[in-house]
Amino acid sequence: VSANLGVLAIDIGGTKMEVGAVDAAGELHLRRRAATPSGDADRVWRTLVGLVDDVRTAAGDLDAVGVGCGGPMSRGGEAVSPLNISGWRAFPLRSRLAELCGLPVWVDNDAKALALAEGWRGAARGVDDYVAMVVSTGVGGGIVSGGRLLDGAGGNAGHIGHLIVEPGGRTCACGARGCLEAEASGTAIAAITGAPAAEADATVRRRTGALVGRAVASVANLLDLRLAVVGGSVALGYGDVFFGAAQAELDSSARIEFARGAQIVPVGCGDEGPLVGAAAVARRGLEGIAGSEVTAR
Ligand SMILES: [Zn+2]
Repeated sequence: VSANLGVLAIDIGGTKMEVGAVDAAGELHLRRRAATPSGDADRVWRTLVGLVDDVRTAAGDLDAVGVGCGGPMSRGGEAVSPLNISGWRAFPLRSRLAELCGLPVWVDNDAKALALAEGWRGAARGVDDYVAMVVSTGVGGGIVSGGRLLDGAGGNAGHIGHLIVEPGGRTCACGARGCLEAEASGTAIAAITGAPAAEADATVRRRTGALVGRAVASVANLLDLRLAVVGGSVALGYGDVFFGAAQAELDSSARIEFARGAQIVPVGCGDEGPLVGAAAVARRGLEGIAGSEVTAR
């Protein structure tokens, strides 16, 4: 990967879209954002094109495009159907961007992109084995094992939101009961309390943290890892109460010798994580083409 590589970084979520330029050191130089419009596929696409044109005009030559996008999607983002962007169903995001930009394009799940960002420039820097999570409207995750981001059979590895943390609990959008996402996401908390998640009391905040800690303990035991980095508006908004409860639950549930001492900490990239992660998705793709080890950093 060229030392001077500049990446057009794109983060696509249900609330907003953001586009930036990220250099080879992972520094974000430009960012433009817009609210994600409701409506049909073309309306959403035109908003994205406007942001891409702005950044490309301001940034000059860039070498590749990296995208973090809400799932589900087919491997490589050939067909994306973000749950919270109803206008995009099997939308051909990668090929549209390749045509628009005339550059190589890589697309991955936004939580996997965040995992790459945290290993590159955030709280998991220098760590080869960790899980990164987003606890916000939904719950997402990405896992790095032995320095490599896990993809799974279809690119969907890391869906920690569907670990079952309350057997017989609330019905999840996936159809199962008691998934972490059905109990600890912002959407779930609002449904349970009847008020926005940000207004939840300390009892709810502690319970949410404990459930996240329970899921992380299972991941730590399963995958022999000792670090979880957690972001998202619910986790970061609940702050110390959340992280204290999560750590206490992790301490009591990750007891097998190799998992003891596992830590759960806030993300280190702040609100730049999604764009830095999108750039990391492109770098990972370029490294793959170059034939070198596909690493998280
Ligand atoms: Zn589920």
